[in-house]
Amino acid sequence: MKHVPRRRFGQNFLVDKGVIARIIAAIDPRPGDNLVEIGPGLAALTEPLLARLDHLHVVEIDRDLVARLRERFPSETLIIHGADALRFDFSALGGPLRVVGNLPYNISTPLLFHLASCAGTLRDITVMLQKEVVDRLVAHAGEEAYGRLSVMLQYRFRPEKLFDVPAGAFRPVPQVTSAIVRLVPRPAAELNAQDEKLLAAVVSAAFGQRRKTLRNALAKYLDDGAFAELGIDPGERGERLAPADYVRIANYCAARTA
Ligand code: SAM
Repeated sequence: MKHVPRRRFGQNFLVDKGVIARIIAAIDPRPGDNLVEIGPGLAALTEPLLARLDHLHVVEIDRDLVARLRERFPSETLIIHGADALRFDFSALGGPLRVVGNLPYNISTPLLFHLASCAGTLRDITVMLQKEVVDRLVAHAGEEAYGRLSVMLQYRFRPEKLFDVPAGAFRPVPQVTSAIVRLVPRPAAELNAQDEKLLAAVVSAAFGQRRKTLRNALAKYLDDGAFAELGIDPGERGERLAPADYVRIANYCAARTA
């Protein structure tokens, strides 16, 4: 029976063979790789991935699709986790783990934050997202797309945009253009925020209200004397500061309250 795509699960299935081949080439799966695909769907990526791997983990929320996958692929090579990727413990799959997928757009931001929380066990992430989200991931300070997502994900990963994928590559055809991005976790030595929760809180405050100056947005954390010590202009806006500046602010606040 034909599967009817479910909008609530962000189901836009890849059908363009050229695009599928390009994504597989970008992932470059090798036998021995420990790889998990989020949202295998109708196996557009799963099948060519499995052809190149000893085994593959997949995490799929849709029970009907899970049943189809179980029928189609042997359980020794395709290890199916019928689960919500937002709650799935990726670190339980061991490291170094490679994460791939054509992600459901409706949950892409929380999913990226969830993956960031287990970045220590990851080797890399190669995923398809809405192009607009990829633009935010790779944006630099001062650029239009730069925001909380850019700072928090760039703190954890080195993001690299690989290529765009037109809407016509999917069925049903989505409203938006997509893009493939690769995220490589930064080595532990580069993660120098002393208190990552505090970093997240400072960044949220700085971007909470777009046109506020840092003096107003960060009033809870820094006075003018502190801005002077840090060498940061309190009349600037949050969009002008680089991830490293936010780490300096968070570490300054952590040191003061220690
Ligand atoms: N990989 C397939 C492809 O490229 O054709 C399907 C991609 S489709 C955009 C997203 C897939 O993620 C669907 O199979 C959907 O059921 C699944 N999905 C949606 N929400 C999910 C969640 N929270 N956890 C795991 N899988 C999810």
